Amino acid sequence: MANKITVGHVHMSGCTGCLVSLADNYEGLFKILDDYADLVYALTLVDVRHVPEMDVALVEGSVCIQDENAVEEIKETRRKAKVVVALGGCASYGNITRFCRGGQWNQPQHESYLPIGDIIDVDVTLPGCPPGSQAIRNVCVMAYLLLQGSDEQKALAAAYLTPLMNLAKRGTEACGCDLMYDVINQGLCMGCGTCAASCPVRAITMVYGKPQIDRDMCIKCGACYAQCPRSFFNFDVINEFESITELIGAAMGQGGE
Ligand code: SF4
Ligand code: SF4
Repeated sequence: MANKITVGHVHMSGCTGCLVSLADNYEGLFKILDDYADLVYALTLVDVRHVPEMDVALVEGSVCIQDENAVEEIKETRRKAKVVVALGGCASYGNITRFCRGGQWNQPQHESYLPIGDIIDVDVTLPGCPPGSQAIRNVCVMAYLLLQGSDEQKALAAAYLTPLMNLAKRGTEACGCDLMYDVINQGLCMGCGTCAASCPVRAITMVYGKPQIDRDMCIKCGACYAQCPRSFFNFDVINEFESITELIGAAMGQGGE
């Protein structure tokens, strides 16, 4: 087996839900740490105080721009990580932290939270609030295969990560209209109702199984887009689905999942 890659979890302004989702892989997480990745930076899990050099940085949370340390930490992460992953809705689009503007009780000076892509270049965006545990696991395995795998594994890993890389290139702004253009109007909506449940101002209601968005109410927090499982659907890789699933299954010792 090739050398393990180094992975860090960088915690900006978020609720720790993404880290909990990573931990929810249970034995799958141990498998990743045994075979593929060394965790070199993670608040509360690793006794390292300064951002080290690493292959992959999983960044959770948005950045408070009144907090100089936070701004420096995200810039240092970019300098020291080969691949930066915006993990979850807050890092990707601001999500609920957009709604925190106006200050918080014990840190009233913290009033502007930006998704990390507004400050640094992001390579991979993995939305969701939080992203599913298997999705985080898959990104970790695919990052390993992209950096250390055979040529064939590298090609499949690139195919898996392409939609998430394209999402990073798309930018950090998402609103109810984007959900309408990119998902609903493309016929990709499966009527799960996640967008309606995630909207903090109740601008989305499900009518006959389809989301109806009240644009006047939308505060453009991006939560619905971050949560929608179809917002990063990509037809370019659909024909690779079986090979990618087999590759992940083999890597995790499950024979396909
Ligand atoms: S529709 Fe709701 S969840 Fe979606 S961006 Fe607007 S306010 Fe946020
Ligand atoms: S979250 Fe996405 S797939 Fe689910 S109902 Fe909303 S738009 Fe449709």
